[in-house]
Amino acid sequence: MLPQRHVAVVGAGPSGLYTAQTLARTYGMAVDVFERLPAPYGLLRYGVAPDHLRMKKLTAVLEKVLQLPGVRFFGNVEIGRDITGEELGARYDAVVYAVGASGHRALDVPGETLPGVHPATDFVSWYSGHPDADLFTGLDAVRSAVVVGAGNVALDVARVLARSAQELTVSDVPDRVLEELAHSTVRDIHVVARRGPDEVKFTLKELTEMGDLANADVRVHADNRTAAAARPASGEATCAAVLDGWRGREMSSKPRTVHFHFGLSLARIEGTSRVERAVFAPTGSSLGGGRETVLPAQLLLGAVGSHGRPVPGLPFDERRGVVPNVDGRVDRCDGATSREYVVGWIKRGPTGVIGTNRADALVTAATLAADLENGAALPRGRARPMTAGELGTVVDWTGWSGIDAAEVARGALRSAARVKVDAWTEMLAVARGVSAGA
Ligand SMILES: Cc1cc2nc3c(=O)[nH]c(=O)nc-3n(C[C@H](O)[C@H](O)[C@H](O)COP(=O)(O)OP(=O)(O)OC[C@H]3O[C@@H](n4cnc5c(N)ncnc54)[C@H](O)[C@@H]3O)c2cc1C
Repeated sequence: MLPQRHVAVVGAGPSGLYTAQTLARTYGMAVDVFERLPAPYGLLRYGVAPDHLRMKKLTAVLEKVLQLPGVRFFGNVEIGRDITGEELGARYDAVVYAVGASGHRALDVPGETLPGVHPATDFVSWYSGHPDADLFTGLDAVRSAVVVGAGNVALDVARVLARSAQELTVSDVPDRVLEELAHSTVRDIHVVARRGPDEVKFTLKELTEMGDLANADVRVHADNRTAAAARPASGEATCAAVLDGWRGREMSSKPRTVHFHFGLSLARIEGTSRVERAVFAPTGSSLGGGRETVLPAQLLLGAVGSHGRPVPGLPFDERRGVVPNVDGRVDRCDGATSREYVVGWIKRGPTGVIGTNRADALVTAATLAADLENGAALPRGRARPMTAGELGTVVDWTGWSGIDAAEVARGALRSAARVKVDAWTEMLAVARGVSAGA
């Protein structure tokens, strides 16, 4: 029998794990998955909102991938820090980069650096218990929060701010996050979109959910556009129709209100020592023209999009934030194959849902398998897969299972499926403890 092909996958998010699944199951390859965090699942664990419990259950599918014969998990190993991509390339038949898009687009307005102004993804990382997240405090001094953006991430952060801490008890948010949310004095959450209701990027399901929150009313403000005209309603279930239906809604006595504003472009953020207000101009008005809208804000979250970061050693398209590729094969513009591949957000940009990465993984895996078949690989049997001993403190499957079990046990105290362990030191200590005892 021919020696097995060995592939390294960098990143244990949805795209990396779907690729590992296809390479192992369909093409019979051995796959080592390297992940910089001690925990797998990428944004499914650290991005998908904690109150979307059904979506979180997808981890059960990805968990099975890491248990497939021939698939190994190397957590707490950062490519570029603990080992270079070049070293991986010398030891594996191919390397697949599934590193996501961890950067964010800037708001690019005066006042952006004032305290209290954050990328929405920082807030997401905090409530998701990402071990790199900065401590987020001061919600007890926030009455009005402004969220700039018209995609699902804007809805996610607005919804988490709108919910009561009680509602989030059954989620996986760390205890200290729940405590901070319990002290929140937020009354008004303003979601502000540049364009009109007919051009938002919300998905219908996520938007509709905003109308059914137990702790918050919704209010839709007039469309401030001066240039674009709203399209006539077609009777179809669209975001514009949902928003239109909310226009005349009676306000109840719920403690919080989510306001939707359209046709407003952020002009500047003002405040003395921290953010106090956000100033918007009508989209389409010439600079200085049109009446400004001023919204009070003790917290401002920019949800204007993620952006990929360069991967050391690989070409990079700065504008799109992706690694140029042809069907997943890294395109070095010389026509040669360097046995390097990409998948997921670093391949196609930060778009699509989790399932989109599955179809994407099939394409990258097929390209890789065809290239290896056509001889673009190390000579058979020459691959030298890494061993944990070469890499320092690896969190392997046993180590991660220990963290997983600790989270499930913590969740039982709060009627939640799990409660996250969110500090590096604690995650590593738990992993080390179980690995030592195994
Ligand atoms: C806030 C937010 C909410 C979302 N909510 C939903 C939702 O409700 N439903 C839905 O379908 N989709 C949702 N998405 C989209 C979904 O999360 C993405 O489609 C998906 O996670 C992209 O997968 P990926 O594998 O490309 O990237 P990621 O999920 O980001 O995974 C990349 C992985 O690579 C690791 N990594 C990065 N660099 C290195 C390195 N140098 N060495 C080793 N490892 C590395 C990272 O730690 C990470 O684990 C959401 C996205 C965001 C940002």
